[in-house]
Amino acid sequence: MTEKKRWGIIGASAIARDWVIPALQAEGQDLVAVLSSEAERGKAFARDCGIERASTDIGDIVNDDDIDCVYISTTNELHKPHAIAAANGGKHVLCEKPLALELADVDAMIAAADTAGVVFATNHHMRGSGLHRKLKELIGSGAIGKVNSVRLFHAGYLPEHLQTWRLTHPEKGGGVALDLGVHDADTLRNILGEEPVEVTGLSAGRGMAQAGLDDTAMFVLRMQSGILAIVHESFVEKHAGPSRIEVMGTEGSLVATGAMAQAPGGALTLRRGDAVELIDTDRNSLYAYTIAMFVAAIENGGAPLVSGRDGRRSLEIALAAEAACRGETRVSIPPL
Ligand code: NDP
Repeated sequence: MTEKKRWGIIGASAIARDWVIPALQAEGQDLVAVLSSEAERGKAFARDCGIERASTDIGDIVNDDDIDCVYISTTNELHKPHAIAAANGGKHVLCEKPLALELADVDAMIAAADTAGVVFATNHHMRGSGLHRKLKELIGSGAIGKVNSVRLFHAGYLPEHLQTWRLTHPEKGGGVALDLGVHDADTLRNILGEEPVEVTGLSAGRGMAQAGLDDTAMFVLRMQSGILAIVHESFVEKHAGPSRIEVMGTEGSLVATGAMAQAPGGALTLRRGDAVELIDTDRNSLYAYTIAMFVAAIENGGAPLVSGRDGRRSLEIALAAEAACRGETRVSIPPL
């Protein structure tokens, strides 16, 4: 049972409306206020989503003693000012990915949260997936021996209602390597339990992204232990089928289909030679799991599912991957 908190929703966004607000409601959370830069959109959003009130002034949320925490899903360049304002107001912060566009901005966000003594979490919801949790557990327990290589397939078709700033606005953090790359970087760190040391790759615009942004990227990370992980991410593939994570080990392989989806589901198989076993996994909401862990961190003083420092690291890796693809070169990733 998740303790009830009172939430401010910063950003009248599609992800808030379609995924996070339903998950907050499923977890019994109170939705007090939404911030939108446009009064009428904010009011309509509040009405449609069952939020008590709307405001165009962030002060109405971050200075409201009746609000415990905020969920930030404005466009990426606004995460920093919004997170710092919320932390300074003493609110716990669950912030969308990428946390910001530059590492120095994330450092300022982390510092504000640390100073205020509030929980600061990144919404890398994939870690809440039953598939990811089981993958991590099986890899960690040695079920497939020593991991040699990983293929992460995260190419699909960006839904039309999301074909906006991601494709046109570099200054808002558009482009596939930043948008999907942070999730992919966090997923690899999480399931493998180790850090990447370098990355190389190529990216391209295949007709959807504009303004010099790329909508397709393929990059390879070399992990600390020598594992090679190849990532294929794209916005343009209408016929790609389910996303996948394939992990090849010395004693077996694990294949998770539907592994990078927002909804629970998919399938996990363990193969040893010709023997293939279907592995049972939890089918919980990824977002509700993240929210429950966030509230537990507020209550118990523990860590959220994905911390601000984890969000900083996923950004660092995605920026390195983007630089490698753009420069068609190899980029080192500094140790943590
Ligand atoms: P949206 O484009 O839906 O929303 C972003 C901002 O755009 C909103 O805050 C809103 O501004 C403005 N906006 C929304 N709809 C309209 C409209 N019809 N007309 C004019 N302005 C509008 O973005 P997403 O929901 O796709 O992404 C938001 C954030 O969430 C990003 O950081 C993204 O990376 C992240 N994200 C995370 C996902 C995850 O699963 N973890 C999945 C998808 C996105 P205002 O608030 O001022 O009204």
